Amino acid sequence: MVPFLDLKAQYASIGPELEAAVVEVLRSTHYVLGPKVAAFETGFAATCGVRHAVAVNSGTTALTLALQALGIGPGDAIITVPLTFVATVAAIEQVGARPVLVDVDPATRAMDPELLEAAVTPDVRAVIPVHLHGLPADMDAISAVAERHGLVVIEDAAQAHGAGYKGRPAGSLGRLGCFSFYPAKNLGAAGEGGAVVTDDDELASVLRSLRDWGQEGKSNHTRKGTNARMEAIQGAVLEVKLRHLGTWVEARRRLARAYTTAIADGGLADSGVVVPTLPQDRDSAYHVYAVEVPDRDNVRRRLDAEGISTAVHYPVPVHRQPGHADLGYAAGAFPVSERLASRLLSLPLYPEMPATAVDEVVAALSRAVREGAAGVGRTGT
Ligand SMILES: *Cc1c(COP(=O)(O)O)cnc(C)c1O
Repeated sequence: MVPFLDLKAQYASIGPELEAAVVEVLRSTHYVLGPKVAAFETGFAATCGVRHAVAVNSGTTALTLALQALGIGPGDAIITVPLTFVATVAAIEQVGARPVLVDVDPATRAMDPELLEAAVTPDVRAVIPVHLHGLPADMDAISAVAERHGLVVIEDAAQAHGAGYKGRPAGSLGRLGCFSFYPAKNLGAAGEGGAVVTDDDELASVLRSLRDWGQEGKSNHTRKGTNARMEAIQGAVLEVKLRHLGTWVEARRRLARAYTTAIADGGLADSGVVVPTLPQDRDSAYHVYAVEVPDRDNVRRRLDAEGISTAVHYPVPVHRQPGHADLGYAAGAFPVSERLASRLLSLPLYPEMPATAVDEVVAALSRAVREGAAGVGRTGT
């Protein structure tokens, strides 16, 4: 039996530290923002290699506030990708702007910079590359296009805590970087959480104001804001966990390398299995280790029958989601995203996972893809 993710294993390793931090907050009665959140912000900004981190109540809010801080709203268009969690696109819609989608690169699974160039129109104000699965997008090429057209680059780094691009941390690669601390992310709260990071002093102060009803000083509401404040318990939990992030990301990388080696040694490429690419100039945070497999849904069922839990990030690209049909893109509009969505399979991966599990998963994967090729156990999907 191999679980996809095991948050209990993480809790077992740091439980007493977390409990002490949470009890401290309870006894302090300072429950929203405050010193614990401020301390986490300082630490997280340093991790991202930027001057400011503004802690908010989810990754989705991080994206909407980043857009609002730039003054983006109705009449503006923002370019992103269809192969992402729905929140990337929904955040653009929530501020009243129009999402414009461009396809991803088949190797990195992130925004294709050439398609970005072709999609720029005069109403486009910003571009949101997504570091899917924790691998940074091709940021130099994307930033070059953005610079030529005067676009702001906002990273969706919700899956990329601890990732690097040419030695620079994810979150420091655009004007603003948006993170999620949803419990299953590489750095997870005990509930909801998010942050916007930036080197820009002015944007940071606007973000701090926006997350707290547009206040600048008590009861002086200088702009229209919202309640997006991070709770102190989440700040305390995240501050503890941040100290372990480097070790956890290293463990993910070791397991990812073990997967790539075992899949190559098992000759699985011959059965159509494609491992995630790792360009030389990047360090993936491996939020997810996703392979491409033929006949994915049946392979997934066979693994499940052997007690191996997998996941799919993401089975349906956003433009094909019924709730976002009004984006106006037809089936086939983004062939690379659509093909990846039908083939990607996320294998079990969490920092505490024993290395032996990698061999177990790859052996089962090998049986599953070969059975598929032999036509055994097909259910006709
Ligand atoms: C998780 C995630 C989000 C949204 O974060 P929440 O904290 O769940 O609101 C946005 N974008 C991507 C790519 C994500 O993986």
